[in-house]
Amino acid sequence: MSKPRDNATFAARLLRWFDASRRDLPWRRTRDPWAIWVSEIMLQQTRVEAVRASYERFVARYPTPESFAKASDDELMLAWKGLGYYRRARLLRDGARAVARDHGGCVPNEADALGALPGIGAYTRGAVASIAFGLPIAAVDGNVERVLARHLALTSDIGTAASKRTIQETASARLDAQRAGDFNQAMMELGAMVCTPQSPRCEQCPVAQDCRGRAQGIAGSLPNKKKPRAPTLVDARVALVPQMGGVLAFRIPDDEPNAGQWELPGPGALCSAEVGDFGSLTLARCGAKLELGPALGSIKHAITHHRITVTAHAASLRSRSLGNLEIRMLGDPDTPWTTISRKVFASVRGIEDA
Ligand code: SF4
Repeated sequence: MSKPRDNATFAARLLRWFDASRRDLPWRRTRDPWAIWVSEIMLQQTRVEAVRASYERFVARYPTPESFAKASDDELMLAWKGLGYYRRARLLRDGARAVARDHGGCVPNEADALGALPGIGAYTRGAVASIAFGLPIAAVDGNVERVLARHLALTSDIGTAASKRTIQETASARLDAQRAGDFNQAMMELGAMVCTPQSPRCEQCPVAQDCRGRAQGIAGSLPNKKKPRAPTLVDARVALVPQMGGVLAFRIPDDEPNAGQWELPGPGALCSAEVGDFGSLTLARCGAKLELGPALGSIKHAITHHRITVTAHAASLRSRSLGNLEIRMLGDPDTPWTTISRKVFASVRGIEDA
């Protein structure tokens, strides 16, 4: 563990650098806890540039938790369009509903109450508590883990409980309690702009002087992450069934990933299906019998550790009712198609119209 004076020096150098070179981002111009909460959820696993446009549109449309609490599934999908990982939006709405129901519509300014809201984990709790309310809580995300693992020359696996504890304790010890929000944002900014994943720019780093990883020449190889497991290969199939100028589509149920989005009918993105099994698997899931015709094309897609090849087939409806299927227009901007479906449309029609 570093000495208190070293921690204070680290914080002072970091904040001096942040004050001089911070990026002007829309969510840095506000102390509104709802807007900061929204931005922190959007920024998870999404590039700043993609968030910038969506964030301003979102907070203009939903300026308070209460306004977003009332959003329907379709409105939620539209508001989150372009950001992906729609589960985050649904959890954000769960959190907004809890604020509307249990806190009179005001985001709680106390760390435990914040952390008890749906969708708010330790990192988001620390970020909102410190940036919006000035509470002295360190927020540790992947950027901060990387910076501190390098600065400490922490060579143990970053995923272990012991490593995570070391990182959290170090971040808390180095936090400037008077400027907790700025300190947390400065750590994230350092990880995003200087101590980057591939090649850290140590010559531009405000805390390079006492960086052990740099001194030992091992910074670029840290943090030490366990190798990811081998990907699971999936051969999925979907049906393109033209109907009245649109295609048959299936709304993904609430208990599946991408719930609420629309996809082309099939047994599901993570289900390998032979042509012969397609009809029964799809009947069980979508409630309608489809008969596959010729393959029209295929696309590749990755979801976590799955590597999926999706083959799209021309198909026809063989049951009297549509079951749980509906007709959706390809170009309808109000239909939140899954990424796989949009890739299929682009592949088989040469258009990106969903
Ligand atoms: S000196 Fe290099 S490795 Fe160390 S914190 Fe700065 S950028 Fe990262």
